[in-house]
Amino acid sequence: MRKKIVAGNWKMNLTSVQSEDLVAVLSEKLENFNNNGKRIIVAPTFVNLVPVVACDDRNAMIEVAAQNMHQASSGAFTGEIAANMLQTIGVPNVILGHSERRAYFGETDALLAEKVEVALEHNMQVIFCFGEELEDRKSNKHFDVVESQLKNALFQLPASAWDDIVLAYEPVWAIGTGETASPEQAQEMHEFIRKTIAEAYSAEVADEVSILYGGSVKPANAKEIFSKPDVDGGLIGGASLKADDFFAIIDAM
Ligand code: PEP
Repeated sequence: MRKKIVAGNWKMNLTSVQSEDLVAVLSEKLENFNNNGKRIIVAPTFVNLVPVVACDDRNAMIEVAAQNMHQASSGAFTGEIAANMLQTIGVPNVILGHSERRAYFGETDALLAEKVEVALEHNMQVIFCFGEELEDRKSNKHFDVVESQLKNALFQLPASAWDDIVLAYEPVWAIGTGETASPEQAQEMHEFIRKTIAEAYSAEVADEVSILYGGSVKPANAKEIFSKPDVDGGLIGGASLKADDFFAIIDAM
C-alpha cells in the first residue's frame, strides 16, 4: 500500500547549527508520536546534509533528502554533487525537478530524465516535482503540461522503477506565494496523474505511487488537503522551517 509522506524542503535556508537545532526540536516532538508508518523527510542544503544525518538527537523517524544532484557520476562539474557522494554519506533520497531548479537553473524534463535514472541506479529514492505555471492553468492547459512533464521525464522508466519514485505535484503559482490550490483542485490533478500513470503502466503502479501536494501548505490548510483520497501527503517549503508548524502538518496527515 502506498505510503503517506510529509517532506520538508528547507531550500537555501538555515546554518548547520540551525539545521541541527530544528531536527532536535522536531525529534523531541516526535518522541511519543505514533506515526503509523508515515514517512517524515527533511531536505537540508548540501553542506548541512552531513550534520543532519549525524545529528545525535535525530529521531529515527526523520529521513534525510538532498535537494538536487548532478547527472554525471564524477568529473569536471565545478560546484556540483554526484549521486554516489550523497549515497555514501547516508542520504538515500533526492528531490529532483523542483520548480526553482527548472526556473532558475534551466532544468528541463530531458535533463531530469537523466538525473532520475542516475539516482535510481544508485539505489536512491526520488521525490520528483512537477506542476503547471499560472498561465497554463489560466489557459486550461494544466493537464496537458503535467502529462507532458511526466511523459518526458519519467515514462521511459520500467514499471519496477516506480517503487522508488514519489511524485510531488506542485503548481508553480502556489509555491511560496501564500496561494494554495484548493483541496478540490489538488484532488482533481492527483486523480488525473494517477489515471495517466495507469494508462502508461498499470492500475497497480498508479495505485502504489505516493503523490504529494506542494504549494503553501500550512497547519491551517493541511488537514483538508490531506483528506483528499489521492493526496498522500505534502512537500512543504516555508512551513517546514518552523518545528511547530512542520509538526502540526505531520500531525494533520
Ligand atoms: C516548495 O518549495 O516545494 C514549496 C511547496 O514551498 P512553499 O510550501 O513555501 O510554498
